[in-house]
Amino acid sequence: PAISNGNGGLSDSLSPLSCSFSPLSCVLSPLSPLLSPVSSLLFPVSSPLSFVPSLLSPVSSLLFPLSCLHASVPSLLSCHLAPVPSLLSPLPSLLSHVPSLLFPLSCFLSPVPSLLSPLSCLLSPLLSSPLLSSPLLSSPEVSLLSGEETDTNSDLMLARLLQMQYDRECDTQLRREERKYNGESKVSISFENYRTAHPYDGSESSEDEVDWQDTRDDPYKPDKPQVTPRKGFTGKGKNITTKHDEVLCGRKNTARMDNFAPEVLVGDGLGMDLKLSNQVFNSLKQHCHSEQRRSARLHDKKEHSTAEQAVDPRTRLLMYKMVSAGTLERINGCISTGKESVVFHANGGMLEEQPVPEEVVLKVFKTTLNEFKNRDRYIKDDYRFKDRFSKLNPRKIIRLWAEKEMHNLARMKKAGIPCPEVALLRKHILVLSFIGKDHVPAPKLKDTMLGAADMKTAYYQVLQMMQQLYQECNLVHADLSEYNMLWHQGQVWLIDVSQSVEPSHPHGLQFLFRDCTNVSTFFQKRGVAEAMSVYELFNCVTGLDLTINEEDEAEFLAQIEALEKRNEDHVQKRGKKTFPLSSWDGSPPLKHAADD
Ligand code: ADP
Ligand code: MG
Repeated sequence: PAISNGNGGLSDSLSPLSCSFSPLSCVLSPLSPLLSPVSSLLFPVSSPLSFVPSLLSPVSSLLFPLSCLHASVPSLLSCHLAPVPSLLSPLPSLLSHVPSLLFPLSCFLSPVPSLLSPLSCLLSPLLSSPLLSSPLLSSPEVSLLSGEETDTNSDLMLARLLQMQYDRECDTQLRREERKYNGESKVSISFENYRTAHPYDGSESSEDEVDWQDTRDDPYKPDKPQVTPRKGFTGKGKNITTKHDEVLCGRKNTARMDNFAPEVLVGDGLGMDLKLSNQVFNSLKQHCHSEQRRSARLHDKKEHSTAEQAVDPRTRLLMYKMVSAGTLERINGCISTGKESVVFHANGGMLEEQPVPEEVVLKVFKTTLNEFKNRDRYIKDDYRFKDRFSKLNPRKIIRLWAEKEMHNLARMKKAGIPCPEVALLRKHILVLSFIGKDHVPAPKLKDTMLGAADMKTAYYQVLQMMQQLYQECNLVHADLSEYNMLWHQGQVWLIDVSQSVEPSHPHGLQFLFRDCTNVSTFFQKRGVAEAMSVYELFNCVTGLDLTINEEDEAEFLAQIEALEKRNEDHVQKRGKKTFPLSSWDGSPPLKHAADD
């Protein structure tokens, strides 16, 4: 604004400058005549020149950081830039500008014509810059450089340049790694997502972003592989891409892994542009299918293993039916799982208008045959079941066990032996009255801590039950022990009689001898002084009078076997219904068992 007169001499025009910038005015004053012809020429720059003082201060402040930068380069190198040598590459170019930066300044201070021309160059970008007025940016934003490298005129720009260079090298390295990793492999992966060439955060111009996108190989790869149109190819001429294109197929195959069963872990291949060759994909698919089949087989096995716990789907269905028919109110839980059966506690309902006991047990005979195979002889040689046994398939034989227990319990009930009552038989499930109270089953004799008196009572009860069983029920328990006797309401209860046989069974007396061994051993151990020896007990139960030699068990067993042999012969001669022992020579007559 000080230079208002366009026709005035340059000295006049520059006079306001002289006060604030005296060295310059000194230089300029002798030159005034020389300059007068160009004064008109200078007019357009005259007003910008008024800013020279303010201009120069930014220049100096520009130079200051540069020199600082120059000075700090070594330390910068050592601490911050040491790990990134690539970062430094723009620095030399930056520093190379320092002399050229200084050069226009020296020109500026030499003859005015030459001063003016660079000044005008210098001022024009400055004046056009709206940032000039900004006190924050005034210093580094001054461009003293010309040519293509003018971008390096601010710290921010420098930092960006350095970063870009670093990123570029990083990406190159990544690409090298990628190539090395994939090699000739049929499965290739891409490190695309790890590339660092990205736009700077807060990048102000949207144009920048576009540029950046253009420089990327494939910045936004499609989420799903391209779909090849029906004609089987895309593009034209040289750029034709068929549906057999390796990359396309690879991506498609990777996407198809999504269709594998959910339990198949496909990894994160989908997220890293994995390309699977057809061959690899096919063998993966094959593996996946065979895995599914295998797991189905495993599942099958699981179903069977529940069968081992007796509750296979068929059994479960039977149990549900009992509940839904109202025979049972509900099934509560498992009391015991043995080798041959599982016992559940349940609440009884109504059966054909008759109440089922409030508390019952469901004895479910296991439908797996393993255990029963060992026990064939208990049923195969039992004449009551002999004929049916040979005709039945193994699964149905198991029902015979339940049936057998039911018949045996019925005989015992008739004789007044304390035992569970049969409420219902459905295939291989036997519903029995519960021995115990309020969901708590009576303890096994082996688990009781009876006093001496109770133990003695128990012993005599057992003795009497064995006699009744043999003589009145015509049965041998065949698995009698402290495990199958419950103590309930001051009384011994006999359970588990599915294997019980008649004494006429080819091994019936041997089974009885074993029962006697268990019983006398148990009570003797529990301190019952009255407990008889096994031989005495055997004779007492059977009413036989076999010779006892305490030292010689083998001899006693020999007598038993002889008896059984005679019995067998007798059965063969007279038919199965004849009670064998009663006709045996010299032996005390036994009562005929009441047949149920
Ligand atoms: P297993 O042939 O598996 O030994 P059991 O008939 O002996 O079958 O029953 C197994 C267990 O279930 C018994 O030891 C007993 O504790 C319990 N139990 C069986 N029947 C009854 C019942 N009627 N009342 C109460 N508990 C029972
Ligand atoms: Mg048992």
